Amino acid sequence: LDLRTEDLETLEELGAGNGGTVTKVMHIPTKTIMAKKTIYPQSLLDSPAFARISLNAPDPATVDQGFPSRPEKSVSMPASKGASAPPKQPERVATQRPARQRNQQLDQRLMVRRQIMREMQFLHDCNSEHIVSFYGAFMNGGDISMCMEYMDVGSLDKIYKESGPIPMNVLKKIAYAIVDGLIYLYDSHRIIHRDLKPCNVLVNSAGQIKICDFGVSGRLIDSVANTFVGTSSYMSPERILGSPYSVKSDVWSIGITLMELALGRFPFAPENKPLAIFELLQHIVNEPEPTLPKQGNYPEDLHNILALCLVKDVNKRATPADLMKTPYLLSAMSLKVDLEHWAKSHLK
Ligand code: ATP
Ligand code: MG
Repeated sequence: LDLRTEDLETLEELGAGNGGTVTKVMHIPTKTIMAKKTIYPQSLLDSPAFARISLNAPDPATVDQGFPSRPEKSVSMPASKGASAPPKQPERVATQRPARQRNQQLDQRLMVRRQIMREMQFLHDCNSEHIVSFYGAFMNGGDISMCMEYMDVGSLDKIYKESGPIPMNVLKKIAYAIVDGLIYLYDSHRIIHRDLKPCNVLVNSAGQIKICDFGVSGRLIDSVANTFVGTSSYMSPERILGSPYSVKSDVWSIGITLMELALGRFPFAPENKPLAIFELLQHIVNEPEPTLPKQGNYPEDLHNILALCLVKDVNKRATPADLMKTPYLLSAMSLKVDLEHWAKSHLK
């Protein structure tokens, strides 16, 4: 499918996150409804990682000087999502530099975007009932947009924030979908998700549960890794401490995600006193792993699978394949749950 901006009609804004904005669109030639995610050019271009990309490039200091970084984007926190007016930009000094250097820099930016586009091609081969399908990506000016399957019920964070904790039988089906989706990504494409959390698990009115927003492009990951955008409260202790990402880091995020859905709130935030991001990261690294409250009457097999995910020592933590062998997930397949009914009850 050859996607072009001119063929897409904007229907509605679906939301904005740290890395981009998502819009519901109609692809006019095929009358297909899609979700279009536009990745902020700032996160691609103004990051320290971008400045490091070089062939025979000018040194990073000069690059930074020419195109001042935009702190309001790179430190954006959930609370500031899309809200406040951007602070005054520092004055551009690019015009004072030789044209050749400027052109080199523009060439690099284009190269980075082309590489991201190339790396996204594998998404066409991602076929799993638990992965949001991909229609295509395109460049438009400085932006990269990708079009994916539109999931009409929306993300799990919205569902539980509106209706409270997810029922236990539905949660088990969700856990199965997430673990199966992650195993597919890793076994078939050697892809680690890196950003698993309730807002990246989507539901449609057929009762399907699918994951999205995984680390498609190494270049894209590089360009956000060194900014605050790349910092998340779902990050495992070893990631916070700077170790390389492994598939087990996703397993930690599965644990936090399931616990959040069961509790109906983020596990680390006491109801009335949310922690600032720095305190929170310190807490994750230094304090014991979170557990579900004993008095909550949660099933034993849920306690057990969470205890396998939320192990601070990465060597002792389960792999996604280990999780599939737990009583919790072994019993998920045969469990009868009317997911369609549940999903439709959350349709706006
Ligand atoms: P973050 O940037 O921290 O990952 P996020 O996942 O909320 O947060 P986005 O990925 O930009 O941010 O998505 C914004 C919102 O758009 C999501 O919360 C979700 O509700 C909605 N959304 C994203 N993709 C789709 C889709 N394919 N179909 C329907 N809604 C979607
Ligand atoms: Mg997302």
